[in-house]
Amino acid sequence: AKWVYGFGDGKAEGSASDRNLLGGKGANLAEMCGLGLPVPPGFTITTEVCKWFYDHGKAYPETLEADVDAALASVGRSVGREFGGQEKPLLLSVRSGARASMPGMMDTVLNLGLNDETVIALAKDAGDERFAYDSYRRFIQMYSSVVLDVDHEHFEEILEDAKATLGYELDTDMTAADWQGVITRFKALVEQETGAPFPQEPSDQLWGAIGAVFSSWMNARAITYRQLHNIPAAWGTAVNVQAMVFGNLGNTSATGVAFTRNPSTGEKRLYGEFLVNAQGEDVVAGIRTPQDLTEQARIESGSDKPSLEKLMPDTFREFTSICDRLEAHYRDMQDVEFTVESGKLWMLQTRSGKRTAKAALKIAVDMAAEGVITPNEAVCRVDPASLDQLLHPTIDPGSTRDVIAKGLPASPGAATGEIVFTSEDAVAKAKEGRPVILVRIETSPEDIHGMHASEGILTTRGGMTSHAAVVARGMGTPCVSGAGGIRVDMKAETIQTPSGLLKKGDVITLDGSTGQVIRGKVTMLQPELSGDFGKLMEWADAARRMKVRTNAETPADAKAARSFGAEGIGLCRTEHMFFEGKRIVAMREMILADNEAGRREALAKLLPMQRSDFVELFDIMAGLPVTIRLLDPPLHEFLPKTDEEIAEVCEAMGVAEDLLRERVEALHEFNPMLGHRGCRLAISYPEIAEMQARAIFEAAVEAAGKAGEMVVPEVMVPLVGLKSELDFVKARIDAVAEEVMAETGARFDYLVGTMIELPRAAIRAGSIAETAEFFSFGTNDLTQTTFGISRDDAATFLQTYQQKGIIEQDPFVSIDIDGVGALVEIASKAGRDRRPDIKLGICGEHGGDPSSITFCEETGLDYVSCSPFRVPIARLAAAQASI
Ligand code: ADP
Ligand code: MG
Ligand code: MG
Repeated sequence: AKWVYGFGDGKAEGSASDRNLLGGKGANLAEMCGLGLPVPPGFTITTEVCKWFYDHGKAYPETLEADVDAALASVGRSVGREFGGQEKPLLLSVRSGARASMPGMMDTVLNLGLNDETVIALAKDAGDERFAYDSYRRFIQMYSSVVLDVDHEHFEEILEDAKATLGYELDTDMTAADWQGVITRFKALVEQETGAPFPQEPSDQLWGAIGAVFSSWMNARAITYRQLHNIPAAWGTAVNVQAMVFGNLGNTSATGVAFTRNPSTGEKRLYGEFLVNAQGEDVVAGIRTPQDLTEQARIESGSDKPSLEKLMPDTFREFTSICDRLEAHYRDMQDVEFTVESGKLWMLQTRSGKRTAKAALKIAVDMAAEGVITPNEAVCRVDPASLDQLLHPTIDPGSTRDVIAKGLPASPGAATGEIVFTSEDAVAKAKEGRPVILVRIETSPEDIHGMHASEGILTTRGGMTSHAAVVARGMGTPCVSGAGGIRVDMKAETIQTPSGLLKKGDVITLDGSTGQVIRGKVTMLQPELSGDFGKLMEWADAARRMKVRTNAETPADAKAARSFGAEGIGLCRTEHMFFEGKRIVAMREMILADNEAGRREALAKLLPMQRSDFVELFDIMAGLPVTIRLLDPPLHEFLPKTDEEIAEVCEAMGVAEDLLRERVEALHEFNPMLGHRGCRLAISYPEIAEMQARAIFEAAVEAAGKAGEMVVPEVMVPLVGLKSELDFVKARIDAVAEEVMAETGARFDYLVGTMIELPRAAIRAGSIAETAEFFSFGTNDLTQTTFGISRDDAATFLQTYQQKGIIEQDPFVSIDIDGVGALVEIASKAGRDRRPDIKLGICGEHGGDPSSITFCEETGLDYVSCSPFRVPIARLAAAQASI
């Protein structure tokens, strides 16, 4: 096998396509060499050696030593130096480099090959003693801390002490003799800490560094990082050994880093910094303040230190032309590292640069406009999930924040408002047009209307999948959850913070993207939906096959979703409409009535309200498809709980309190999620489904009169497991449709379908499709029922599952393709076989999750439906899935 790949002098044995074998850094060094760019010669020991190393008890393949010697000799010939040589010593950098850039791996060792003798040769050869001893002390410091595990603080202490004694401020003040003194102390320190003298033999140094790189693949930091980023341990790391070039060779030498475009704004302008007379680590170490690369940046920063453009104009020109070439070659923004040795420019690294969501968007759109990439490629360059950051107001990074607490970044975006502690107060203040932040220990389904009315939600308990977090994300409302550092007193309506008491009406700001709770008002930046964002979305829409609908029941949500590009409503949950205002009283009346007549009476009160809701929704959706789900939740969610609520219902119904309490008792269920809910309600109480169907059809007729465009309402029956259930309910819906047509004289089309959310329905989908005209996969319930896990109770143990590696991902966040996904596939196929034109969609939370959307595309669904704020994410993800 070939274990070592060389590069240098305009040639390379590898290229950028050998990333798996050579690691990212090695592959790109080879590629730059192949392009004829100035790269110090060197070689890469492959990731295969790393595998071999671990498969053989940390030993090396037999031929490796000879291969490395040959490669070293070739590097030496190329630069006219010899490793360990007594006249012109070759010095090396040894760098790790995995496939994916990976912090936690071994740090780079520079100046390897120096010892008490080669340092004298280096001084003579360079004609610069100070440079040689500076390099030697750097080497001892780096090698000892990285390879020999001596705490680097010890070296810093010695260095600081030396400078203080000598009365210097900067490292650059140190003379050759000063460094020699430091080196003596460094060597003594190493001997004291490791029990052995600092290794003098260059080849021992080299193999020590190589072993340290490979061993670092399995250190705790690297293992944790891999777990967090799903990087397989089997990939291994490569080792890059390269001739040193010296940025610390006086004032015509320098070292720096640059991005070919601004990584935080995306602006097309070289962005970076450098230091004169320095080596790599100095720039990041912050010992000296780095200088700007371009004159323009220097003027903007007001720095009095010259830019590279001014200081070394020829080098700067060459550097910018190389940056342009690299960007054009890789067709992406690059992050490069370079060194100037005595006026000669050397490139040390290039890779695609990390960037903010905003920069990613701008760079993708700009590069497509420049003709560097195609619009489809631009679409694939932006991470759909990152759009979340762009769709919400954000806190102006320039503003000052008085942070009073920190919780979890549960739902992104920032919001400012007055503190309220109850949903009632939230609704009341919002009606007056005053923005509010709802503060609770935790939220429950009864808080929905208050959450809707609030600009932001703050809880002191609960995690990322708590009720508050899930609902807030669905609404696109910023939320900070689990802010444990503050205490809420619901009775006194105060918040105890480490820096004092806050009370109702005080103004706070939440940053749902960082989890910060901030006192007072902060300047906000509004999201930009046109411009680059609009352009990218246009390209995405042209590329995608699946439609994107929204889950919405309020006019505000429906409008927001339309502005985000929703192509219809995939799920309108009618029960949410019954929580509003006084409707809940009529709803409770209906539930608590003990006979059909009583129910019909209450339903008659609900009908006009429900109808007007639908008219409004149909108006907003102007002819786009709207799927309306019949009443679904277990009735207990509507029951009165407080004495006040019970009294209210008693009065409305004209019954005694104890009778009502008895009725509430009777409705108690042990396991309501698997209880009397979904189509089971419509079968027990057909009059409910009939009222809802009537409201839908009458609204369709009325809305058509107003807007001219007739919706085709899609009536969805929830929680069907048996064809006969659907048959029963559909017969009622059809009968109502007939009646409404007869009464109004209008003709209209409508569809009746079902949610597939029980395993039985998925397995019997063929027979259900004889009746159902569409399927909508309700993957929230389908996940609950397939796993037999209650979503509301899963947070604690699913976290444990993830920590212990039992599952990789929360199946409520990303669809479980093997299990739940298999049921979706079975049902889709059976449905299509039985009814070729059946409409298939998904309306669970997964409809807004990019990896689940990819699965939906592969399964051939017609549309995904998600909460309004996720619509752009879904549009982009659907496009990427079909490109
Ligand atoms: P990282 O992955 O942390 O960026 P690198 O392997 O790129 O680590 O090395 C860090 C720095 O070391 C580089 O930016 C560069 O300044 C310096 N360096 C690496 N190789 C050489 C070399 N051959 N000559 C001079 N400096 C080098
Ligand atoms: Mg590193
Ligand atoms: Mg680097």
